[in-house]
Amino acid sequence: MTTSSQWFERAQKVTPGGVNSPVRAFGAVGGTPPFMASASGPYLTDTEGKEYVDLICSWGPMILGHRHPAVLEAVQAALQRGTSFGAPSGGEVELAEEIVARVDPVEQVRLVNSGTEATMSAIRLARGFTGRNKILKFAGCYHGHVDALLASAGSGLATFALPDTPGVTGAQAGDTIVVPYNDLPAVEKVFAEIGDEIACVITEAAPGNMGAVPPLPGFNAGLKEITARHGALFISDEVMTGFRASRSGWYGRDQVAPDLVTYGKVMGGGFPAAAFGGRADIMQHLAPSGPVYQAGTLSGNPLATAAGLATLRHCTPEVYARLEEVSSTLGREVSAALSGVGVAHRVQYSGTMFSVFFTENAVVDFDDVQATESYRYTAFFHEMLRQGVYLPPSPFEAWFVSASHDDTAVNRVIDALPAAAAGAAAATAG
Ligand SMILES: *Cc1c(COP(=O)(O)O)cnc(C)c1O
Repeated sequence: MTTSSQWFERAQKVTPGGVNSPVRAFGAVGGTPPFMASASGPYLTDTEGKEYVDLICSWGPMILGHRHPAVLEAVQAALQRGTSFGAPSGGEVELAEEIVARVDPVEQVRLVNSGTEATMSAIRLARGFTGRNKILKFAGCYHGHVDALLASAGSGLATFALPDTPGVTGAQAGDTIVVPYNDLPAVEKVFAEIGDEIACVITEAAPGNMGAVPPLPGFNAGLKEITARHGALFISDEVMTGFRASRSGWYGRDQVAPDLVTYGKVMGGGFPAAAFGGRADIMQHLAPSGPVYQAGTLSGNPLATAAGLATLRHCTPEVYARLEEVSSTLGREVSAALSGVGVAHRVQYSGTMFSVFFTENAVVDFDDVQATESYRYTAFFHEMLRQGVYLPPSPFEAWFVSASHDDTAVNRVIDALPAAAAGAAAATAG
């Protein structure tokens, strides 16, 4: 048997930091990340045979739990038919139809391979459609590692305390304006000055990438109104909330119709599939219908579309009800355990994603996030991990549940909370 420590040592020789996505390295909480060997329902099993209740769910995709029978069956059937055609296939149409049927403002979609590609392509399209260069984003919102969007990009960068990233040029970031989240007057001010130069505003529909910091009432509607008034597009990034916050994503909750929307995570069912879509008159500007170029060798891959379609089709009302139930139960129990040991905290929800902030105050923007006593999370996290609960390895990420989290799994989490809360209470800064 190769232990996680041995894998991690080997990994660090051949891969920067030993991981293929930074947060997995446990940089924010310290220690050796368990290397996973298998997964089933709400559980992950590491290479040493230790089982964990999974509260990351692959950062969202595993909404039905790991190895859901219907998803496995769909993928196995697709596998028998071929793994990539490089030509159009029916599965792509069915997945696009499923998305379009769920979200009224999304009249057409283009399938891509990752959320990063979706947001990158959406802002290119917004610029091509409007003939304007500047884009506006919010501090703490993450939209993938798109050059132009890696300005104050939330969890990953905050976690690793990089104010900006080398490799992105001034020209690439220079057309990006960053304002505080939930601050409509700041948006108004920018538009009052240079509104006719702004191609789009992009926002997480309900942020999860600085922890769960939901939009204040009227915030998304305000963005829509301001952008419409100035001829700019409103892009809602639903890569995390899409088909998780409701069957039509965050849109199903606030009914604010964006011009363009980005999806990923859930819609790929654990495979690399993502999408951007929206108003048909805008989408028609994409090649080959229009002049804005965008393409992908593996876009609409038959295995990915089969997994995504099977996942979405099994996201029934019962699934969403269970996500609500599990997330509200866990949020309540975490809160009770922390209150029991006198630790100031807030549990906040962005739909059915939630996170725990160590503060007494409401957290409405990224400055608030950074002002929390996040050092308490390290102790909390490691005690949960020791007891077999796999939480996000960063205080600035959301927790994800699945419909497969049954009462047994939920109770395992609840049983682990008192010791973790005691750890949080005993933690000291620095
Ligand atoms: C995960 C995420 C992305 C990037 O998706 P990848 O598939 O990791 O490239 C973009 N936007 C949001 C809101 C996300 O949560």
